[in-house]
Amino acid sequence: MRVTTNGRSTADAFLADLLKEIDFREEGKTAYGIIQRLYPLCRSITGNGVRRSLRLLRETVPLALREVMSDTPVFDWTVPDEWNIRDAYIMNQTGERLVDFRKSNLHVLNYSVPVNRTMSLEELRPHLFTIPDAPDWIPYRTSYYQKNWGFCLTQRQLDQFEEGEYHVYIDSTLHPGHLTYGEFRIQGETDEEVLISCHSCHPSLCNDNLSGMAIAARLAALLENVSLRYSYRFLWVPGTIGSITWLALNEAILPRIKHGLVLSCVGDRGGFTYKRSRRGDAEVDRAVEHMLTHSGHETNVLDFAPYGYDERQYCSPGIDLPVGCFMRTPNGCYPEYHTSADDLSLVTPSALGESLAGLLRVVRILEENQSYVNLNPKCEPQLGRRGLYRQIGGLKEAMGVETAMLWVLNLSDGEHDLLDIAVRSGISFPSVSEAAKLLQEAGLLTAV
Ligand code: ZN
Repeated sequence: MRVTTNGRSTADAFLADLLKEIDFREEGKTAYGIIQRLYPLCRSITGNGVRRSLRLLRETVPLALREVMSDTPVFDWTVPDEWNIRDAYIMNQTGERLVDFRKSNLHVLNYSVPVNRTMSLEELRPHLFTIPDAPDWIPYRTSYYQKNWGFCLTQRQLDQFEEGEYHVYIDSTLHPGHLTYGEFRIQGETDEEVLISCHSCHPSLCNDNLSGMAIAARLAALLENVSLRYSYRFLWVPGTIGSITWLALNEAILPRIKHGLVLSCVGDRGGFTYKRSRRGDAEVDRAVEHMLTHSGHETNVLDFAPYGYDERQYCSPGIDLPVGCFMRTPNGCYPEYHTSADDLSLVTPSALGESLAGLLRVVRILEENQSYVNLNPKCEPQLGRRGLYRQIGGLKEAMGVETAMLWVLNLSDGEHDLLDIAVRSGISFPSVSEAAKLLQEAGLLTAV
């Protein structure tokens, strides 16, 4: 039995068994259902939309809502005032709402200060944002750190605006309050941690990043019920300021973080993309790349660069955690990115299920990877005598296990871990790990 940080005890089960039993199609549907419910809420880097979203995720995993006061200094930044919005519109002289927050929360420049005025189209124009090249899509725009107000609308809506007076109304507040983030920790056998982080600040946008929020929650819920070596910490934080805030307030924890992943854009139909940590060859980098090589999916591995998501903060030079970014199609690389077309049709249950499966396979590698020493290193040990040779299943399968055992025996000199052996042999990690287990049971191998 293990006890999670919220005091609940969980039954022991093994990750390898979970991976065999789980129905990822059903998992994908469950994640999609979470996204459907989060979609209408108006999130931002602070405010009640984030709180409602995190409370909704609590139906999946009992995460804690953390509140950090506005004006709290966090490294070179300060926690901003809290923003909340109830309604917003642009109304013409006949009382018609031409742009209406109630139809899409993307219609308001996120973090707009309140306004209630009548003005000419000429005066209004600098506050209107469209995408002329995609005339049916609403852009997603923010102004967190510069006080401004504005409306985002389709080019087709704007084309219908005539010269005249407009009533512009944004019922928002921007006052000292709190920044809210979600946190959930699973205690494993050791205090060494794996960090899973996603951003929770975008309003009605599905791939970026309701997909990440939902998959993080499902991953946490599944891991909560298995036996784990590492402890796992999940964060749902507003982009940039949220990870900076968490890092500034939790510096003492950082040495315990051994591996980490930022999750973003994990629900679209594209192949997988992995962006390496700043270190480039961290164990998590090698684990994800190995999983992708054997995934059967189109994959793309990118080197670290200091833009993108919260890996920018986790991999800043004074923090330098081994944290990579796991995605399908990356930010900025699909036309619907940061527009109203990043909607419920862009993400699919099957893509979400595949992403979750990939992440669980990475977790399995991290959990089972370690170095061993061959206790019979002078020439090959006699496997047949120990029941390990040509005695398992069909011939083809047996040869696969035997080959994996030979690789494990050969490279287990204390210098290579199982992941090294999997990469060098081209054999998938689970087979190498199974082979190591058999050899250990036969007394031929011992963990370093
Ligand atoms: Zn984004």
